[in-house]
Amino acid sequence: MSALEIMGQVMHAHGGPEVMQWESLRIGDPARHEVRVRHTAIGVNLIDTYDRNGLYPMALPSCLGREAAGVIEALGAGVKGWQVGQRVAYVSTVPGSYAEARNVPADRLVAVPDSVSDEQAAAVLLKGLTAQYLLRQTYRVKNKDPIVVTAAAGGVGLLLLQWARHLGAHVIAVVGSDAKSAIAIENGAHDVIVSSREDMASRVRALTKGKGVPVVYDSVGKDTFTASLDCLRPRGLMVSYGNASGPVDPLSLLELARRGSLFVTRPTLFHYFATKRELARGSAELFDVLSRGIVKITIGQRHALRDAVQAHREIESRKTVGSLVLLP
Ligand code: NDP
Repeated sequence: MSALEIMGQVMHAHGGPEVMQWESLRIGDPARHEVRVRHTAIGVNLIDTYDRNGLYPMALPSCLGREAAGVIEALGAGVKGWQVGQRVAYVSTVPGSYAEARNVPADRLVAVPDSVSDEQAAAVLLKGLTAQYLLRQTYRVKNKDPIVVTAAAGGVGLLLLQWARHLGAHVIAVVGSDAKSAIAIENGAHDVIVSSREDMASRVRALTKGKGVPVVYDSVGKDTFTASLDCLRPRGLMVSYGNASGPVDPLSLLELARRGSLFVTRPTLFHYFATKRELARGSAELFDVLSRGIVKITIGQRHALRDAVQAHREIESRKTVGSLVLLP
């Protein structure tokens, strides 16, 4: 077995952005059913900050990062259907993408179409698959459905706005600052609520003639959970899919009865794309809406991989728009 020496952002302890260290590390040949991908662009996701600060525990030392795009450099034994030199992207249940290369299971790979650049693939795969399962599986958005999307100018948020608008939804976007309001409108929102100065639930009631909405897609978590419940109509579905402001406090089920026999789900991507077939279907649908120009990718911030600390400071500052990518 030969080892390859590469550079990566290695984390030896949980903590703030500064725990990432730019170090050399060695990776072995790809194991059976694995391929080695030479990264050309790496997606930054807010989830990486949860891995970093210990909210989602992981074995250390390790690199962060759940997704990247690049080129296949080596094939492990038993790998079928993939070739050295092929352009691919992947999302991984296990962190480790903030490095120049990585061995990944072949069944987590997605072929990148010619119409999508490596940067775009890294910026969109994890976030776009999230948008796919939220809008098309968790709750299938229908024509004229009013829906609420929080953190609407973020990476996942901008994709949700555009895709939901295409599906015919009346999209109510919630953003943290006035600066993000115009961006939400440009990306498909019909109405925008600025959470720092407006009451989300009462504005949603006003916008829906007192009825409320059938679904809220809430990634802010702790700070917006109760307000999001109060946006729902009877038997509405609360999709709490993120913890940007911290994990949601424990909930008494009676609150759901009192507010209108509500439903709540706390979904994660990896349960929706657990099999190769599910991943193929979801990514085909995602690449279809991208190739038809229905959904456009906004890369708001680019950094060198060695500057990942800065990328984390930015995404946690609430000032980023769209996706962030790291370039090796
Ligand atoms: P974003 O680009 O959306 O960045 C996070 C945004 O959250 C900020 O821009 C900010 O928008 C908002 N926010 C609100 N409160 C805070 C806070 N206290 N600190 C930081 N941000 C805050 O990130 P991503 O697109 O990477 O992810 C969006 C969300 O989706 C995350 O919560 C992530 O965990 C979740 N996610 C969940 C998945 C799943 O399968 N469950 C998969 C992928 C992502 P504003 O200022 O406008 O409020």
